[in-house]
Formats: sequence, structure tokens, C-alpha cells
Amino acid sequence: MEIDGFQVRIISEEKGKGLFALRPYKEGDVIFEEKPIICCQFSWNAMYRYLACDNCMQPLETAEENAQRLTMKPDIILPHMECCETNKESIVECPACGVKYCCTECQNEAFQRYHRTLCLQSKEKNDQHPLVQLNETWKQMHYPPETATIMLLARMVASINQATDKAAAVSTYSQFCHRTVNDTQEIAHNLLGEKFVGQIDVLRQMMQNALDSEYIPQWFTPDGFRSLLALVGTNGQGIGTSSFSRWVKNVSALELPKDERIQVDKLIDRLYDDMEEVVGSFLNNEGSGLYILQSAANHSCVPNAIVEFPYSNSTLVLKATRDIHPGEEICIGYLDECALERSRHSRQKALSSLYLFLCRCDKCLSQVDDPDVTSDDDHMSD
Ligand SMILES: [Zn+2]
Ligand SMILES: [Zn+2]
Ligand SMILES: [Zn+2]
Repeated sequence: MEIDGFQVRIISEEKGKGLFALRPYKEGDVIFEEKPIICCQFSWNAMYRYLACDNCMQPLETAEENAQRLTMKPDIILPHMECCETNKESIVECPACGVKYCCTECQNEAFQRYHRTLCLQSKEKNDQHPLVQLNETWKQMHYPPETATIMLLARMVASINQATDKAAAVSTYSQFCHRTVNDTQEIAHNLLGEKFVGQIDVLRQMMQNALDSEYIPQWFTPDGFRSLLALVGTNGQGIGTSSFSRWVKNVSALELPKDERIQVDKLIDRLYDDMEEVVGSFLNNEGSGLYILQSAANHSCVPNAIVEFPYSNSTLVLKATRDIHPGEEICIGYLDECALERSRHSRQKALSSLYLFLCRCDKCLSQVDDPDVTSDDDHMSD
């Protein structure tokens, strides 16, 4: 696959696909923008009233409401609300179940692609609905910090059931990285944790009970279901959106008189401190999505590109973090920035448990003789 400026190509059977530059990129250049094939907010995140469009994850609260909720201080007033991007006037809801969208386009897109199948058809909470039960069971197995949700799998199934060309829809999902049965088993287990290994089959049966599997029986066999879990576990890209952080960004770009600037900056610092006390690191609407191009980018502990969500919705932007030459592989960091700073041993432990590979990036190769020590600040070990 060749697209303006870069190319997706097979590196080897073992390494799979990779993303390669065909032209030079300067630091800060946008390499591509991409919408997800499918995305979904995390289950606990939604339950804790992190309000996002059910289709594109755009925040539905104003920055002020967001700050009030996350600090638990309902009387907070933000200055310069012209810097808030949330347009509450365009918010619409599904007339049958009350799920909210940022605009009519999102509502229509969701309904045509998957929501017709997944609509609960009632605004009252119905604990007996098979989809509600599936989600509740999942929540009991997968606590925050969340990395996946069973509802993303439900959306994948629904999107195939609703597709006019079902074979094409199935083959869209088959472009994502696939693993051997053994690998799949290990990834699915690592995703849920040892405690819940025996429950994977419970989830599978509940999903079968909730959704029509006629078009994709292969996803509902024990092996098929595990490989679906592994697919979202290894290819799912985390998405985070926040109306408050957008407001902060816009306010910071304003030209203000010196005194006012000091006041505003103080207010922002104080609000972040208050939020940290109440919600810790759970500041954003969080979810995950599947992206065709992004999923072709391999990991490096010294990546030359970064994934960003500059529109505060699920549209992803891949940006060069340093100059990239034609022919060079474009890599992203699968671990967060602070995890990338840990020792080689710590990084490899994290990568092998989440993605089952031994990293052979330049940094790891140069540290190959380092002793196998775990970094002091290593929170990934348990
Ligand atoms: Zn939307
Ligand atoms: Zn609905
Ligand atoms: Zn590495």
C-alpha cells in the first residue's frame, strides 16, 4: 500500500508490516491523518460520567462543566469561555435509547454502521439486556486503568452484521495483525489477568447471546474469540479527549496583559492540582479504536513519530518528532514516554507481556550488554 509520502510494506514473516518514509519529513510534519474503522469509549470511563460523543468521542461537556466535575467544585467559573470548543447546541441523542452524539452526522453514521444493532431501545436502565450484562461482566474483569473494552468487539460484530458488503467488512478487520493460536492465548490472558482466564469463555457465550453471529461464526469459536481479544489488545490505539485541556491550550495561546496571564496560569495550575486530588490521573474521556495505517507502524524505544488527537475526537494524527529520511522506517512508541525512559529490561518486560515481542530497536541493541535490572520507578512489574 502506497500513500502520499509513505508506504506500508511487509518487512518479513516474523516482523510483519512496517511503515516507511518515501520522502523526507521535517520535525513536526504531519505524516497522515486517519479516522478509526471503529472506536469505543471504555466501560468504566463512561460509567463515571466522562461525557463523550458515542461515535467520535468528542467531549460533550463545556470546559467549565468538565472542570467543575473533575474537581467536585460546582461553583468554578472559567474566564475566556470563548476558548471552549464544545458546541452544546449541536448535541443530539438517539430517540430510542438516549445515547448522546456531538452532532447529527455522528448519530447517523453510528446508526448506519452499528447502533441499529446495539441500540438498547429503552432510556430506562435494563439490567437484563444481554448487552448490558455483557458490559457488566466485562467491567468486573477489567478495572481502571482500562486498556480495552468488550463493547469495541460488540461494535465490530454489529458493523459486520449491518454492512451491505459483509465480505469486505470482514476483510477490513483481517488487515490487522494476527497471531498464532499460542500467542493469542497469551495476549488474551495478559489482557484480562490470570484471575479471569477461565472467564473468557463466559464472555464469549454472553456475546453470542447478545449478538447475531450468523455472518462471522469464526469469531465466536473459542480460538476465534481469543484472537479477537488479542486483535483489540495489540492493535487498539488509546484515545483521549478533554474539553478542559482544549480550553487550556487555547487560553495559553491568547495574548493577554501580563497581570491577567499570571492570574490565568495560576488558576490553571490550581485546577489541575484539585483534579489530581479528586480523580488522580483519570482526566480524559478515554477509549480505544482500530486504525488501519497507525496499526502498521512498529514500535521503537526511540520513536521518530508520535500519535496525537489534535481535534479532541477520534481522528488521529501521526506527526514526525524528528527529521525522517526517505527509506527510513516510521516508528511510534507503544509504551508511554516515562516507560520508554526505563531500563532495557523493564521496557522489554512490558513489551513482551503486552505485545509478545522482543524489541530490537537501535536503543535496545545498544543496551544489549546492560545488566537485567528493573528500573527503580518500574510500576509495570507486579
Ligand atoms: Zn461525534
Ligand atoms: Zn439507541
Ligand atoms: Zn527497544
